[in-house]
Amino acid sequence: MTSGLARRRFDTLILGAGGAGLRAALQLSRADARVAVVSKVFPTRSHTVAAQGGVNAALANVTPDNWHWHMYDTVKGGDYLGDQDAIEYMCRAAPKIVYELEHAGMPFSRLDNGRIYQRPFGGMTQDFGGEQAARTCAAADRTGHAILHTLYQQNIRARTHFFDEYFAIDLIRDAEGVVLGALVLEIETGEPLLIEAKTTLIASGGCGQLFRTTTNAHINTGDGMAMVLRAGIPLQDMEFFQFHPTGIAGKGMLITEGARGEGGYLTNKDGERFMERYAPHAKDLASRDVVSRAIATEIRAGRGCGPDGDHVMLKLDHLGAGVVNKRLPGIRDMCRTFLRIEPAETPIPVAPTAHYVMGGIPTNRFGEVVAPAKTGAEDSVPGLYAAGECACVSVHGANRLGGNSLLDILVFGRAAGKRIIDYLHDNRNHRALDLDSVDRAMARLTRWDRVGDGEHVADVRAELKRVMEDHVSVFRTEEVMREGVDRLLALRRRMADARLRDASRVFNTARIEALELENLTDIAMATLAGALARRESRGAHSRIDHPRRDDVNWMKHSLYSLEGDHLEWKPVRTKPLTVETFPPKERVY
Ligand SMILES: Cc1cc2nc3c(=O)[nH]c(=O)nc-3n(C[C@H](O)[C@H](O)[C@H](O)COP(=O)(O)OP(=O)(O)OC[C@H]3O[C@@H](n4cnc5c(N)ncnc54)[C@H](O)[C@@H]3O)c2cc1C
Repeated sequence: MTSGLARRRFDTLILGAGGAGLRAALQLSRADARVAVVSKVFPTRSHTVAAQGGVNAALANVTPDNWHWHMYDTVKGGDYLGDQDAIEYMCRAAPKIVYELEHAGMPFSRLDNGRIYQRPFGGMTQDFGGEQAARTCAAADRTGHAILHTLYQQNIRARTHFFDEYFAIDLIRDAEGVVLGALVLEIETGEPLLIEAKTTLIASGGCGQLFRTTTNAHINTGDGMAMVLRAGIPLQDMEFFQFHPTGIAGKGMLITEGARGEGGYLTNKDGERFMERYAPHAKDLASRDVVSRAIATEIRAGRGCGPDGDHVMLKLDHLGAGVVNKRLPGIRDMCRTFLRIEPAETPIPVAPTAHYVMGGIPTNRFGEVVAPAKTGAEDSVPGLYAAGECACVSVHGANRLGGNSLLDILVFGRAAGKRIIDYLHDNRNHRALDLDSVDRAMARLTRWDRVGDGEHVADVRAELKRVMEDHVSVFRTEEVMREGVDRLLALRRRMADARLRDASRVFNTARIEALELENLTDIAMATLAGALARRESRGAHSRIDHPRRDDVNWMKHSLYSLEGDHLEWKPVRTKPLTVETFPPKERVY
């Protein structure tokens, strides 16, 4: 099967052209490595482009600040599940990474004195839990757009090689388990291509398409995470999925936390500013899990707005058209397009919406993928790296703070790039491929030549999203999740003979949707299995039947493996690099 297969060779293969992939690629191309970046959409359409609010760095341009306070907020925001060595590394690196972007041409918004504009975001404080900090560096409400275009242009200059609109199917390994590239599919022609590489970095982004209502792009189907599962490597902390408090109700498009950062606030059907009851100090700028739970609680208590009482209102009208137009122009446009309202005059209907996966491919702070070894210790998987939303370093622990993901993708994209350069220095030759592993990847592709009668892939995908929304959403219980697992197992069986639609109309994208659905199904099981096993409430994982955090039994990371839907656990790294540990405390805002 492999004899006629087209092949290309590179030093490094990067799967994904979002902020993480492009930051790593830049590091490598500038060091004269031969880099291939594969993306299933044109690079600047990656989901990073949709990031609105900003990127955190303790620059102290607006309020006093330092990286140690940022570190404290991140540890606390993650409900003490984050690894403190990685968090220290990220918060220390933040100012440098932002200045690097500035020097690369990134069009940040500016203060009157010319410095980079910084806005207040949820969970950001001065002096270890004191007054609100303004730490989030922004380009109006289009920060991700500015970052992605800046990085793309720099990569073109550095001569990174792009494979645009190619879909990665599976990793290729040799007999010893060293990762040697991937099988990809050219979407336009349907032709497979084998890309051999000495090192492979997965930077394939998140999996928000697990849920029916989501802020995520259609392409965020967790492909890289599922590839890792199929390679026999577990995923970490998948039970932690963030629901953003303010997606447009029923539709899902994101209204940035920056809207509350600029002074917006939430009200229920009685017009009450209810966050004052749930977070007396931080109010509407409490951490996201706290605000999402408060909204869900208001709705369940019958205080939601609208005919179905299924949302609350985000008020910006008191800010005036001046602030809305200058600081939130994208939000204004979105409200006009999707709601036909002027946010400077009319409140926006919002509800908690699937947004971000805290879990992912386990890595250390150098971007190396690590897996449990037979010895009980951890081993890095030779040749394999991961960075960005698909990875779990873990800096976000059980709940990510707004503005920390753009930081994560840049800091760890760069770190992975640096580590790969070291590896390439010591490993100059390509290794021989294991052809069985190529055959296995090809088999995934040929399986989806099935067309005609039978259940359609699109129907199974719609059902999967309903299962996730109904059974593992903001609030969770044992009984409801067990039903979810049963429904998911039934879906897995139905997948086995699902079909593409009528042959005459089948286009390659139909085949790709089927491959994506397989990926989503495995990730859905990882999420449900972890959520069912974790009998406590921590960060975004909120169990009605186990409402308290339990540091004695559950301050540990979960690891889910596909084979046998197996779960194991590993300790949180509580020791930072140079400072004292932040011990767990009750988390109030
Ligand atoms: C609407 C929205 C707003 C946000 N706002 C903020 C914010 O203000 N601040 C913040 O810190 N965070 C924000 N986030 C989160 C943050 O933007 C993301 O977590 C981050 O940008 C992810 O970057 P990434 O590089 O990991 O992946 P992405 O940018 O998602 O890129 C993934 C890449 O992988 C490629 N890919 C995936 N699968 C395959 C495959 N099978 N084959 C080939 N290519 C593949 C895609 O084509 C794409 O190029 C926001 C997220 C959303 C959804």
